[in-house]
Amino acid sequence: MEKIELLAPAGDLEKAKTAILYGADAVYLGGKKFSLRSRASNFDIEDIKAACDFAKKHNSSIHVTVNIIPHESDFEGLKEYLKALEEIGVKAIIVASPSIAVLAKEVASKLEVHLSTQLSITNAKSVDYFNDINPDRVVLARECTIDNIKHITKHLNIKTEAFIHGGMCVNYSGRCTLSNAMTLRDANRGGCAQSCRWKYHLYDADVKISDDDILFSMSSKDLMAVDKIYDMIEANVSSLKIEGRMKSNYYIATVVKTYRKLIDEIYETKSRPSDDRIKYYEKEISKAENRLTSSGFYNGIPTASGHLYGINGAGVTHDFVGLVLDQNNDYTFIQTRNVYSVNDELEVFGPNIDNKRFIVKSILDEADENVKIANRPMSIMKVHIPFKVNKGDMIRRFYP
Ligand code: SF4
Repeated sequence: MEKIELLAPAGDLEKAKTAILYGADAVYLGGKKFSLRSRASNFDIEDIKAACDFAKKHNSSIHVTVNIIPHESDFEGLKEYLKALEEIGVKAIIVASPSIAVLAKEVASKLEVHLSTQLSITNAKSVDYFNDINPDRVVLARECTIDNIKHITKHLNIKTEAFIHGGMCVNYSGRCTLSNAMTLRDANRGGCAQSCRWKYHLYDADVKISDDDILFSMSSKDLMAVDKIYDMIEANVSSLKIEGRMKSNYYIATVVKTYRKLIDEIYETKSRPSDDRIKYYEKEISKAENRLTSSGFYNGIPTASGHLYGINGAGVTHDFVGLVLDQNNDYTFIQTRNVYSVNDELEVFGPNIDNKRFIVKSILDEADENVKIANRPMSIMKVHIPFKVNKGDMIRRFYP
């Protein structure tokens, strides 16, 4: 059986490289055209090519979202764009419109066509319906339960992709016009203003029923499926997808590395991870950011406990403070990303080392002056780290 794919997001070339180096088997990104979140994209065709070349070198691949819901005027230049993606080595496109799927099969037949989660595929009959356009893979709706996924993969001979981590819409994914209505920013064109997460007064007709001090807000906890990876592998899902093209390099590195290690452990041990191992991986993931998480729909329709009312985070546990650029016998050259000081205890993590901690004994700035604190973003500081680290490793502060 083919090993399950770990698919990571990237909002720019640096993030794509990070995701690949930290263990992603494939990376998905959006170009400046024909993609949702095109506002968030830094990928023109040259950047996509650079990502493809980097991916090829590291045994990974690039998927490109071509997932706008097109109006008639949106087709201009699309044929040429699809051909260009095929030519530069993109493996797959992710489409939300059957019209784009059909066009891609006609003009760029080497591109795999993956049906986007925006098509809200939650059952085998829907997959059957789309068989006419011959998709290579179906990205299942986040609203599937694990049993739905098992049913689809058991009854149909098609590759499936399932979300395992990241933001959830409080509305049905891809079916929300809240942002359009309130801000004229179209969620189906990458412009969602996350209006669901704003704070609201509640009215029943004209009667205000919320307290001025306690405003109502709606957001879902983020999805975290650490305890579902074994089930997905067992269900023969082809690809596990992490959401978050807007997320930071640090977030991508942390989340990708954690799922990479978990997936590899499951294949090595050929067994379901113990509760202790699940707790360990959940703790590692929590170092990425402070949004509260849940299993989404995987155990069934979420109850109130799957949502957040008024609160968002669980408190920050870690800050990304620096990126390792180089190391010699005396010093490690660290690009500053957040404040740290002499006497701080910091943790290094990277794709090829286990997490390791050290105490900052001294900091030399760019003029080789001793300083007590590193606080200029992107400045390169010299710090002695008493063990081997590698270019691209990340350094974080933790809060006990
Ligand atoms: S407004 Fe909220 S629920 Fe609607 S698409 Fe945006 S994030 Fe999703």
